[in-house]
Amino acid sequence: MNFRIFKNEANNYTFYGFILGLTFPIISTLFTLIYSNIEISLSTIFLLQYENPLLWIIDSMPFLVGILARLSGKKQDRIFKILEEMDKSIILRTKELNDKVAEANESSRMKSEFLANMSHEIRTPMNGVIGMTGLLLDTDIKDEQRDFAETIRTSAESLLTIINDILDFSKIEAGKIELEYQGFSIRECIEDSMELASSKAAEKNNELTYFIEQNLPDAIIGDVTRLRQILVNLLSNAVKFTENGEVQLTTKLNKSQNGKLEIQFAVKDTGIGIPQDKLNKLFKSFSQVDKSTARDYGGTGLGLAISKQLCELMGGRVWVESEVGKGSTFLFTIISEKTEIPPLDYDKFPSVILKDKKVLIIDDIATNRKLLIYQTQSWNMIPTAVSSGQEALNLLKADNKFDLALLDMQLPKMDGIELAGEIKKLKLKHKMPLIMLTSLDRQKEDSKAISDYFASYLIKPMKKAQLYRSLLSIFERRKSDDRYKARKTILKTSIAKELPLKILLAEDNIINQKVAQRLLKRMGYDIDIVNNGLEVLESIKNIKYDIILMDIQMPEMDGLEATRQMCKEYEKDARPRIIAMTAEAMEGDREKCMEAGMDDYISKPIKVEELIAALKQFKT
Ligand code: ADP
Repeated sequence: MNFRIFKNEANNYTFYGFILGLTFPIISTLFTLIYSNIEISLSTIFLLQYENPLLWIIDSMPFLVGILARLSGKKQDRIFKILEEMDKSIILRTKELNDKVAEANESSRMKSEFLANMSHEIRTPMNGVIGMTGLLLDTDIKDEQRDFAETIRTSAESLLTIINDILDFSKIEAGKIELEYQGFSIRECIEDSMELASSKAAEKNNELTYFIEQNLPDAIIGDVTRLRQILVNLLSNAVKFTENGEVQLTTKLNKSQNGKLEIQFAVKDTGIGIPQDKLNKLFKSFSQVDKSTARDYGGTGLGLAISKQLCELMGGRVWVESEVGKGSTFLFTIISEKTEIPPLDYDKFPSVILKDKKVLIIDDIATNRKLLIYQTQSWNMIPTAVSSGQEALNLLKADNKFDLALLDMQLPKMDGIELAGEIKKLKLKHKMPLIMLTSLDRQKEDSKAISDYFASYLIKPMKKAQLYRSLLSIFERRKSDDRYKARKTILKTSIAKELPLKILLAEDNIINQKVAQRLLKRMGYDIDIVNNGLEVLESIKNIKYDIILMDIQMPEMDGLEATRQMCKEYEKDARPRIIAMTAEAMEGDREKCMEAGMDDYISKPIKVEELIAALKQFKT
């Protein structure tokens, strides 16, 4: 507020009042002279005026007001002076404060920048420490030294995780993170995140599920890596703090305005929950619910702070709802735009996913059939076309297997929806998704039937790209669903019960040992571990193993040599089956292993499905 304006105005009023007070009697006398037409002298009128006490008072009013105003003006002057001083000091203080805030921001930015640089600087030698310790462990060292080296490596690795978190966090704070803007599939991003969290979820016996609302676009623009980072962080937290429970990820479209979409993700768990008074602290850096959290569950307390920053960079926000003992829901939004997945040159390079897929085409119009046959063939699919629902049913009843069916809606006798109902009644053993093609938009009237029977719905005349994308998304979805389901069932059912085996793992790398041990543990196996070929030979003297998972490169005696020796000493039936496990997935490796006498071969990193397939071969 500027008090000087008020002061100036008040002074002006005093001045005007003063002038008016002096001039009013003169002006009124002159007016009386001009308009009265009475021939009297000026002095008489002046006297007359002042003989009348009322006129006298009226005339001198402005003068009095002026005097009073001037007097009170003096008092005001003092008040204004004080206010002016205050005004000045407020301006000064505000400036000081602004300077301090700018200074604080600058120093916080400098601090983050320093941390970012430091973390980076620390990371480089840390990688050296880890790498060299690995090499040291591969050399011929005493057990005690190995133990020391292993401790160095494990500690270095956990330190590196913390440093990576700090680096990430400080990079964001220093404004050094630039988001990517590229089209990506939300579904794929979600499924990848689920897969990353799935093994830990299975370990803790948690049911991990996801749900994507229909109205979400297939592809959006944004930074897929960063979105995945937030999802993985929330999912891992949910899994970490939940035991024998459920973790569910749901995704929905909150609103859509001027082409901008607000997408909401929610990760809900049935875990330990968080006390109300701790909720708002969680997103601050290095904050954990209490000291025991770090002790019991590990972690740095940076994950949520990083997620919050990333969400905000994506135009959204993050919040949490929780009840102790019941579970928590972490929610976040991002702002994005719908896009098409980058245009595909599907005619030149059709996806391999479609290759050799058998597609059944049902359309009564010959031209349409021809067109669909031509199109699907150009994508390396194998089409079979029929003109009526009955023909289609006959083919299916005769045990013909199709991977997918394209149904025209307007078919004579039996329309597309009726046909879909009949197909459902056949209870086919294999999954055959249906796509409806129609020239009428019947989605509204038949929405229930459509969503019950059809994986997709296309309105004719449809674009070739539309059909291509639809086919692709169905098969891709099925592939990832299958992969996800397979993983879940593999990890849920204890293979060990079905296939009890005594397994020895020969592997010198401690991390690889841990990975294999954890994987096999999840399948229900308690395995023994040795570090080299000599130890293998020693162990089989005392224990009867069914399987040896054998690394090739090991110190003292490698896997090939150990196998050769074993084959020399034992008859085939008297020795364990040997499965080679090697990172050198080179051509000729398999032959080398087989020549040495091994029975099978899997490559590292070990894939669950491959390992199970290899183990199943030895079912006796
Ligand atoms: P941390 O690396 O410690 O997990 P985060 O920032 O990811 O760091 O989480 C901070 C803290 O918030 C955790 O230590 C835990 O106390 C609490 N927390 C996060 N997610 C959950 C959850 N789903 N259930 C219960 N507590 C949680």
